[in-house]
Amino acid sequence: VVIVGGGAAGCATALSLVRSKPDATVLILDDADPTSFKIGESLPADAKRILAYLSPDIPTRLSKDISDGLHKRCTGNASAWGAPLLEETYAIMNPFGMGYHLDRAKFDQSLRDAVAGTLKAPSGISKSTFTSIERQSNPERWAITTRDLDSQEPRVYTARWVIDASGRKASLAHKLGANTVKSDSLLAFYALFVSPSTTQDRDYRTLIESSESGWWYSSQLPNNHRVVVYHTDDTDPSSRDARKLDGFLNLLSHQTTYISALVTDGEYDLVVDAKARQPRCTAAGSSYLEPFLDAADVLKWCAVGDAAMAFDPLSSQGMITALKMGSLVGDVVAQDLHGTELDVTSKITDVYSQVRSKYEKEKRYYYEQVTRFDGDFWRVRR
Ligand SMILES: Cc1cc2nc3c(=O)[nH]c(=O)nc-3n(C[C@H](O)[C@H](O)[C@H](O)COP(=O)(O)OP(=O)(O)OC[C@H]3O[C@@H](n4cnc5c(N)ncnc54)[C@H](O)[C@@H]3O)c2cc1C
Repeated sequence: VVIVGGGAAGCATALSLVRSKPDATVLILDDADPTSFKIGESLPADAKRILAYLSPDIPTRLSKDISDGLHKRCTGNASAWGAPLLEETYAIMNPFGMGYHLDRAKFDQSLRDAVAGTLKAPSGISKSTFTSIERQSNPERWAITTRDLDSQEPRVYTARWVIDASGRKASLAHKLGANTVKSDSLLAFYALFVSPSTTQDRDYRTLIESSESGWWYSSQLPNNHRVVVYHTDDTDPSSRDARKLDGFLNLLSHQTTYISALVTDGEYDLVVDAKARQPRCTAAGSSYLEPFLDAADVLKWCAVGDAAMAFDPLSSQGMITALKMGSLVGDVVAQDLHGTELDVTSKITDVYSQVRSKYEKEKRYYYEQVTRFDGDFWRVRR
């Protein structure tokens, strides 16, 4: 089995697969740079259960990394959403306790470390970029071509099952003819801030604010950092301003009350480095892959995580859903490899359909709460 992508979805798929079929040969291809900032830091408290199921080493490592200051705990949410006043949810009321504000790049690396510690050769993780795939006959196999990150040399692997866990790019599925259907054109513009070590920011909540042309959130990160994110549609005029640092800061001070106060009171400065001279921008809308699997043939493929369906960040459910999808798909693939009589397609399709319809319902509910703004951003979502 070859898995393209070693984020939450790919790692969960590999761990679940070898849990159900320890002798399966599984290779993850991943090209992440664990030293680069990765957006998507909030992990809900109930993720602890799925992490422990996938590997008991993961929650142990997470606790240690928190003690070592690599991640932060999250004490709850505070949102000025339907009304200008903050409404709060407290982690203390949550049976699972506090959630996390992760250094995402490091967390994803810790998932890959857990996979590397579980898989036995010839299974493993290859630091390489997937480039192409084709069908091979005699024996019937997928032939997957990659480029090694260190040597830049091409390599070819063969497999009966291929899994697309490459995130929103869905690199593998698109090569196999699948199409990503986008429900909206939401963009996320984000910037990192740092406060002087003498200043103590004691706000460990995720802060959310709606505004005329979109919505904002901010979370505290390790090492006195704070991420600030603005979401709007690519057609909204503010999306042009948000691409430039001064435009982003101007929008921040005019459109937010609580987040801008936090940035000012915490004496935060923008982190401007060689890699990020402007706010970074990424697609953040809802989308799904059509089709997301083909398991009718001898050679099978399936997409998991964002490659299969990507959520609006408002849900904060991207990572936990990717972990759960990976866990399901890994188990189904293991049963298929065992030769178990199993309708792979309906087993996966049923769950994916439920996940998508629950997400769509909740998303509509949350956007309908905002009636205080009349801009196009809100009108198309209500
Ligand atoms: C602005 C924003 C904020 C978000 N905030 C949150 C949040 O707070 N909480 C939350 O739970 N979710 C959040 N999300 C969503 C969350 O980040 C994703 O749902 C989650 O990362 C999906 O995991 P994944 O493994 O499917 O994909 P990814 O995390 O994208 O991982 C894909 C992996 O595949 C690798 N890859 C890609 N292409 C190739 C290739 N060709 N060859 C080899 N490797 C490849 C990449 O390097 C990467 O390691 C947010 C998303 C956005 C856009």
